[in-house]
Parts: sequence; structure tokens; C-alpha cells
Amino acid sequence: MVLGNYKQVIAARSTDQEILRGSQDGGIVTQLFAYALDAGIIDGAIVAGPSDEPFKPEPMVATTREELMASRGTRYSLSPNMSLIKEVTRSYGLDKVGVVGTPCQIQALRKGQLYPVGLRDVPDKIALAVGIFCMENFPYQSIIQLVEDHGATALENVSKLDIGKGKFWIYTERGATVQIPLKVTHKYEQPGCHVCLDYVSNLADISTGSVGTPDGWSTVFVRSDNGDDIWAKAIAAGAFETKPIDSVKPGLDLVTKLATEKITKNQKYLEARATEYGVGKALRNPYI
Ligand code: FAD
Repeated sequence: MVLGNYKQVIAARSTDQEILRGSQDGGIVTQLFAYALDAGIIDGAIVAGPSDEPFKPEPMVATTREELMASRGTRYSLSPNMSLIKEVTRSYGLDKVGVVGTPCQIQALRKGQLYPVGLRDVPDKIALAVGIFCMENFPYQSIIQLVEDHGATALENVSKLDIGKGKFWIYTERGATVQIPLKVTHKYEQPGCHVCLDYVSNLADISTGSVGTPDGWSTVFVRSDNGDDIWAKAIAAGAFETKPIDSVKPGLDLVTKLATEKITKNQKYLEARATEYGVGKALRNPYI
């Protein structure tokens, strides 16, 4: 099942215009945490916050709407959100924790909950795990380089970065838009991402991404009982506008296609590595 287990999948966007303005897609992540904070479902969330450098994420514990607002938008480089997983309960003293992460980060979170070595008291305090779709991530230096090489500008002049419709998009502060075919951006990717077999954050309570829905909307998978409960309450509170997924274009077929492509490509890569290492051929370790 390339899309994992889920109870429902819908097209959705936040009803809060302020959230929508600065969010990457339909503002699902920020709206979910803002609603959950208001409703007392979480008392804070680990998010990828801003830092002193443009588009460089810095993991942060957001306990206010203002902090959540500052973390809106996608930063296409590694944000080690799990590094705060102990701190969030111990130093910050949170009892009901929200976490957002890429598929690998949600896997790490669930593994930590199953085998809480060094994570005493943490597993039961995870109140809402929101996963984002992810084909691959980029080291921060690569993002700087990619924008300079193909956007002919510096990252500080950029207002938004996005991946969609087979392109990497650079929007500059002065209103220019640069589209780069993804086959050009592959060399900038984080090589470690090529062992990942999860596109849609299968283990999250709720997972979301832009693929499958029109601009400004998001595809949302409601996966766990906990996710279902929180989603129902958020809908009842008017936090989201929704449409049936089969009423929007390009729809779930594209999500399935991209998930299948990621899994097939990375499975081949994993098998090639196992064969090489297993039969003692000359080692070609991509990480060194
Ligand atoms: P918003 O309300 O804008 O909030 C975004 C949330 O994501 C914030 O809480 C922020 O802290 C968090 N965040 C931002 N950057 C990171 C990061 N680097 N690591 C962890 N958390 C982060 N969607 C697709 O449909 N297809 C893809 O192939 C795809 N690839 C992605 C690759 C990467 C590396 C990342 C980080 C995201 C990718 N996404 C992809 C997800 C998409 O870009 C949006 O993040 C997602 O749709 C949520 O948008 P939103 O408007 O609901 O979130």
C-alpha cells in the first residue's frame, strides 16, 4: 500500500486567512496546531522555525499562535525536529506535544515511542503527530547553491521556494519566478533520502502535502484514531474548508503515482547497495 493506512483522504485548506497567507499550501499544519493549542489538545508543538539565515530551518518549540505563525511555510533543508523530543517534555515541561515532520522524522518518532530508550516519559506525551509528504530533502548549502546556480540570485532575495508540477520554483522578492526542471535539481538532493520508502508520512496521525490538489489547497490523509478524533473536532470548530478528493484535480492518482515512483526508485537503490555490499564488489559508498 503505497499510501499507507488511512481512514479518509480529503482536499482541504484553512479557513483562517492570516494562516493561509504565509503557509506553503493549504495551511493544514499551522491550522491544526493552532486549533489544537486553542482547544487544549496540545500545549505546544515541535516545528521547523526560522533562523538567522534565509530558509534555514531551526527546530523550535512553539507554545503560542505567534510562534506557530513564524514557522509557516516549507524550508527545503534538514530540520532535526526530533532533536527536541526530550527537551520538549523535560526543559519545556510540555505534557501534550504536537510534532511536525517529514516521513523519516515521523518514523523516528514512532520508533522512539515503541522503544523509548532514553525517552522515559516521552511516548505518552505525544498528542498529535502531523506528517508532511516528502520526495527528498536538501542540505542547506545545496539550497544556497541551487538558487545561485539556476535562479541567478541569492537566497536572501527569495520570498518562497516550492516543488510542484515537476519543477522546483523560486519566487523572488521582486516578483520574478524561476522554474527549474526537477531532473536538474537531483544532484543537489540529500543522498540519505534515497533509502526512504515513504512519500506520504504513513505513520503520522494526519499527513498532508500539496500534490493531488489545486494551488492553495492540500491533500490530507487522516490516519489514526487520534487523528480522526482531532480532525473531526477541528472540522466542527470550522477550522477547515474541505472538498471530496475525487472532486479536485489532479486528484489521488497523482499522489499514488509519485509515491509509487519514490518507492520503486529507492527500492532499486537499496537492492543495488545490498548486492554491492553483500557480494563484496568494490564498494561505492555514496556517503563518502
Ligand atoms: P504550513 O502551515 O505552511 O506549515 C508548514 C509546517 O512544516 C510548519 O510547521 C513547519 O515548521 C514545517 N516544516 C517546514 N520545513 C520543514 C522541514 N524542513 N522539516 C520538517 N518540518 C518542516 N509536499 C508534496 O506534496 N510533495 C512533495 O514532494 C513534498 N516534498 C517536500 C520536501 C520537503 C523537504 C519538505 C520539508 C516538504 C515537502 N512537502 C511536499 C510538503 C509541502 O511542501 C508542505 O510542507 C506541506 O504541504 C504543508 O503545507 P501547509 O501549508 O499545510 O503547512
